[in-house]
Amino acid sequence: MKIHEYQAKEILKSYGVPVPDGIAALTVDEAVDAAKKLEANGATLFVVKAQIHAGGRGKGRTKKNGVKGVILCKSVEEVKAAAESLLGDVLVTIQTGDEGQLVQRLYVTDGVDIEKEFYLGILLDRAVSKNVIMVSTEGGVEIEQVAEETPEKIIKEWVEPGMPLQVNQARHLAFALGLEGEALKKGIKFIMAIYNAYLEIDSDMFEINPLILTPDNEILALDAKVTFDGNALYRHKDIAELKDESEEDPFELEAGKYNLNYIKLDGNVGCMVNGAGLAMATMDIIKLSGGEPANFLDVGGGANVETVKNGFRIILDDPNVKAILINIFGGIVRCDRVANGVIEAVKDPEIAAKVENVPIIVRLQGTNAAEAKEIIDNSGLNVISAVLLKEAAEEVSKVLA
Ligand code: GDP
Ligand code: MG
Repeated sequence: MKIHEYQAKEILKSYGVPVPDGIAALTVDEAVDAAKKLEANGATLFVVKAQIHAGGRGKGRTKKNGVKGVILCKSVEEVKAAAESLLGDVLVTIQTGDEGQLVQRLYVTDGVDIEKEFYLGILLDRAVSKNVIMVSTEGGVEIEQVAEETPEKIIKEWVEPGMPLQVNQARHLAFALGLEGEALKKGIKFIMAIYNAYLEIDSDMFEINPLILTPDNEILALDAKVTFDGNALYRHKDIAELKDESEEDPFELEAGKYNLNYIKLDGNVGCMVNGAGLAMATMDIIKLSGGEPANFLDVGGGANVETVKNGFRIILDDPNVKAILINIFGGIVRCDRVANGVIEAVKDPEIAAKVENVPIIVRLQGTNAAEAKEIIDNSGLNVISAVLLKEAAEEVSKVLA
């Protein structure tokens, strides 16, 4: 799960990680009030930052007004103008794609002077099953580019899960950034605190780009990208509440309500499968038969009438879907029950109206597969049964032709 920069910074702050002061705003008036409050606390420079679930805002431009997603302002009046030009406009960055993202929230921060910009990232290194902390002196630029062109400029420390970060590891990283004296001490403290925050909140990625050194030797997180391991969210009700539904894919949001594992894709063949592995194999089959998968959908072990109905609803909401392939392996769940579930779902008036022009190919294999095929074949509905995966693929090719 993703959250906004201002939310990430509030969390970091609560774990003792220094960040510039800032206030979130939903309207121009709120942005002006925020700037006035910061000014009363001594701010003379302000930064107005678009809050969207994508990075690269500083180099991005909005579609209508052509402004950057991160605007430095010298006065409250400038903050007002920046807020007016950003709110309601669509920001396009290298991470949003050409369609961009609507700006609905801003973060007004105390503008700080930058001596140096660094990079810091924390994530799980799956290859070695350890967390890795990465730093680089090449901050403020795309870290992927640094990794590609000058990988030696990324310094890493791995931490055993269940073990705390050692001070000497934090020192090694801070030292690699060229920090000295007071700044080195603060850098070590920063790294210790941020790693602790990463562990405590069950994050699966922290990216601080840039991490900065100020002229008076402060170390601050100037930007913060924080994501969470969805499987651990049940332990963090407060974090789960930070989800901004307006930034999520509407189909995936809907699927989440039905407890379905769904990922929207760009193709034309919808698929409904039980088990993630079989779902992957089914997507391959769709590709091999000349189609493109419209989604990944794992309905899990149950596959009863309700889950099948909900699966249909989500798949059929996507106007690109030209055919649906249902591929269920009956292990614990019996194929004849799934077949009846499919038939019942297809008879549902809401679904029936939508499947009129969308052929459904069903492949049921496993317990009571023969009975299941009979049920489908005798249903009189626009549902094609297949026994082998190869047959299912051929049927998909036929209906797409
Ligand atoms: P991103 O472009 O989405 O990654 O947004 P960032 O939060 O990283 O901001 C982009 C750039 O704006 C940073 O790399 C800085 O160069 C600049 N910037 C952001 N906040 C400040 C600030 O408080 N003071 C100064 N001088 N520059 C800032
Ligand atoms: Mg950044």
